[in-house]
Amino acid sequence: MDMNTIEAVVPTTDPEQWRDGDAWLAGGTVLFSYGSLAFGPRPLTRLLDLGSAGWTPVTITAEGIDLAATCTVAELYSLPGTPDAISRNWPALDLVRPCCDSFVASFKVWNMSTVGGNLCTSLPAGPMISLCAGLDGTATILGPGGTSRTVPVAQFVTGDAANCLAPGELLRSIHLPASALSARVAFRRLSLSNLGRSGVLLIGRLDGGTSLVLTVTAATKRPVQLRFDAVPGTDALADALDEAIPADLYHNDIHGLPAWRRDMTYRLAEEIRAELAVPEGAPGLRVSGDFWPPPDPGQDVRGHHARGLNAQQEGA
Ligand SMILES: Cc1cc2nc3c(=O)[nH]c(=O)nc-3n(C[C@H](O)[C@H](O)[C@H](O)COP(=O)(O)OP(=O)(O)OC[C@H]3O[C@@H](n4cnc5c(N)ncnc54)[C@H](O)[C@@H]3O)c2cc1C
Repeated sequence: MDMNTIEAVVPTTDPEQWRDGDAWLAGGTVLFSYGSLAFGPRPLTRLLDLGSAGWTPVTITAEGIDLAATCTVAELYSLPGTPDAISRNWPALDLVRPCCDSFVASFKVWNMSTVGGNLCTSLPAGPMISLCAGLDGTATILGPGGTSRTVPVAQFVTGDAANCLAPGELLRSIHLPASALSARVAFRRLSLSNLGRSGVLLIGRLDGGTSLVLTVTAATKRPVQLRFDAVPGTDALADALDEAIPADLYHNDIHGLPAWRRDMTYRLAEEIRAELAVPEGAPGLRVSGDFWPPPDPGQDVRGHHARGLNAQQEGA
């Protein structure tokens, strides 16, 4: 879409230069598809272009991984295959590709759209939000006057297309800590249609082999995180979900009714609980949804949602 109200494109990463009517331009896959009238009460007049920021997309250290806000989805997808990442042997890197795959788009979109743009768009189905929240990521945010603050990604998104950024603030990077990357993880994701947007996306993490962190995204308007000292029982997990997610926090749009999202949240959360409660690779576990290898290699469950779970939406 043409952004025909734009008067200037300014290459900068300096929040001091931001003024009313400006938007940060990253990959532009949202800006150029929504148009310049969709971002507030007045049309956008300038784009502050991050294209020449020159930020290193991915930095790996013993402390974890730093993703620049300008890291593209394509760059993130290649991360687990890099020698540096392989040598760290972090199990939670297994989440990277399923999360990228949850961003169902062509290579053209993957090559342009950024991790930061995904967080700042703040859609419930933002898979980079799921990944970074699920791994206890911390966002670094730059403000005018050289100020900087950090916010847990799980709290960065505050609602459907809403986040904690003040006007003009710039998301600089996301830090994923080695402690979370070292954890065993489980992933479940469902869409109502083949190649559809995520309706439910849950990530489980077993920290230190004992405590469970469950991050619910896509089903809810903002990420919801539940923490347990030990893997709970089925009823305790359901009780915790009851308490953490009120009915009106489930998202409602064309990609899924709240009642379906709620049912699938409980179902997939229980699958994750069961998967992480037993030793890795235990046979006979149920794996619904997309993109996560079945524990039992003989069991073909990928794409299961298209065959079975949609029936639940229809009340079967
Ligand atoms: C086919 C297709 C499928 C898609 N599927 C999904 C999907 O499943 N889930 C989903 O969430 N989105 C989806 N999108 C939307 C979009 O592509 C992604 O959210 C993408 O990650 C946005 O990144 P971008 O770099 O292109 O953002 P841009 O378009 O450049 O920016 C988006 C918004 O974020 C702001 N912004 C960008 N970077 C920063 C920063 N560093 N600091 C502060 N503000 C910033 C911009 O000002 C703008 O308001 C899809 C788009 C297409 C075309």
